[in-house]
Amino acid sequence: MARMTPWRAIAGVITGVATMFVMRWLAERLEARDTGNALIPLGFLAAVSMDCVIDGVVIGIGFAIGARQGVLVSAALALEMFFLGLSTANAMRSGGARPT
Ligand SMILES: [Zn+2]
Repeated sequence: MARMTPWRAIAGVITGVATMFVMRWLAERLEARDTGNALIPLGFLAAVSMDCVIDGVVIGIGFAIGARQGVLVSAALALEMFFLGLSTANAMRSGGARPT
């Protein structure tokens, strides 16, 4: 931040906010297509998939900064993935999906 011009930071924030709105719009479109009793909730799974991709990028950035930071970020996101997996499994089961 000290060496960058403020315009780069502002452009990054604007791009990030715009990306979040596009992702929200896409997830809402997919959720609107779900009939409520769908076996697979596509909108929810799309949001979970986007979160997994973003978490992977965050882990990569953590390891690019340093091994210690990467391990710390990985441990934190592993905990998040545990609860995300439980939530996803619960959403799938309440839609009628059963483990094979
Ligand atoms: Zn995440």
